Order: sequence, then C-alpha cells, then structure tokens
Amino acid sequence: MQNTEENIKNIQSKIELYEKNYHRLPHCVKLMAVSKKKPQELIEQVYASGQRIFGESYLQEAMQKIEALQYLEDIQWHFIGPIQSNKTRDIANHFNWVHSVDRLKIMKRLNDQRDNSKEPLNVCLQVNIDNEASKSGFTVEEIDDAARQVLDMPNLKLRGLMAIPKPRKELIEQRRAFKKVQQLFTQLKMLSGDIDTLSMGMSGDIEAAIAEGSTMVRVGTAIFGSRE
Ligand SMILES: *Cc1c(COP(=O)(O)O)cnc(C)c1O
Repeated sequence: MQNTEENIKNIQSKIELYEKNYHRLPHCVKLMAVSKKKPQELIEQVYASGQRIFGESYLQEAMQKIEALQYLEDIQWHFIGPIQSNKTRDIANHFNWVHSVDRLKIMKRLNDQRDNSKEPLNVCLQVNIDNEASKSGFTVEEIDDAARQVLDMPNLKLRGLMAIPKPRKELIEQRRAFKKVQQLFTQLKMLSGDIDTLSMGMSGDIEAAIAEGSTMVRVGTAIFGSRE
C-alpha cells in the first residue's frame, strides 16, 4: 500500500524546490493527481491530504468514480485520455476540464454537447510536440487556427496547451521538447486573457517541465504507485 500522504508531500516539496531553482513564482505550478486505474479509496485518501485536482484517462472507469465521489463537493475532474467521438457527450458533461482535445471534430462536439446550464468546459489543446505517429494532438502549425476556433465556441473556455513529449532520460533533452511547447503557449496567450495553463510534466519529467514554464503537472505513479 502506498503512503499517498507522504508521496504528495514529497511531490509538493519538489515542486516548490523547482519553482525556486528555476525562478518561477511561488505556487504557480498546480498538481494534478492522475488516478487512472486506481480505486476510489485511494482517491479519498489523497483528497483527505488536501489534493483537489484529479485526472482520469478512461471514461467508463472515471464516470463510476465521479458518481461515487460526488459527495466531495470541491473535487475537480480533468479528462486527460484519448477521446473517441462517440464519447464526447459524457466527457463534456462529467468533467470540469479536458486536456486532450486533439482535433476539430472533437472540439465542435464538446461545444455542442456541453449542457448550456453549466459553466463553459475548460479545455487545453493537445499538441503533438515530437510529431509522433503514435500520439494524438495538433501539430505546432495547426494550433493557432484551432485556438481561434475554440475561442468562438460559447460552451468551451480555452485555457491552454497540453503535451506529452517522448520519454527521454536526460534533463537537457526533456527541456528541449518542453521549451517548444512553452514558446507556442507564449504566442497563444496573446489571443485571450483566459489562457493560463500549460499542462506538462509527469512523474518522470516534472523538473524539466517546471524549468520550461509548466503551470500544471500531471502525476500518477509518484503519488499512487505503479499501475499494473
Ligand atoms: C498516465 C498519465 C499521466 C501520469 O503519468 P505518470 O508517469 O504515472 O505520472 C500524465 N498524463 C497523461 C496524459 C497520462 O495519460
């Protein structure tokens, strides 16, 4: 059994350390706890140590947890997984945020299907920064046009970019990929004052991500232990 409270404390102190070392503002980097494949009880445990932002990748599994944990009023659910177009209605209405918006069709469906009575769905555009055939996401060249289209959609609020670079060992190489995302983010911010989120960094590359301007790191393994 993981000591999630200890794990959360460790990650929080790493985040603080990297914010300091890389001259970022204190508390500018938020922590998302990625709870995919982990049971409700562990989420409750992590919530009890003060964590509020949770990320999920698999819709069916996520919806069951969201339903069961409704009593945790200020919990925030972020969808970070691949999106099939026949699943957009549930994603649009059960989550507070979607980080993995990767094509125009998905954007339009989320906007059309988000319940009008709810506040706009927060979205990040996923950018395929290493141009990997196996990964989804917009190319760097497509982002500006996609962003302008989201800005015209009343039920979506564009918050920023999400990226999952190729796993790399060396800090310097990890930083190179994140830096490209940051440059794109800097340009994007000129389009709207609501754009404030650069979702990048996972258990293995938090330092590089924070060095390059991440404002939200998505951490699973380092909090909940490995998934099998
Ligand atoms: C699983 C996942 C994470 C968390 O990865 P860890 O290496 O376990 O920290 C972060 N982001 C996305 C998009 C994921 O699918």
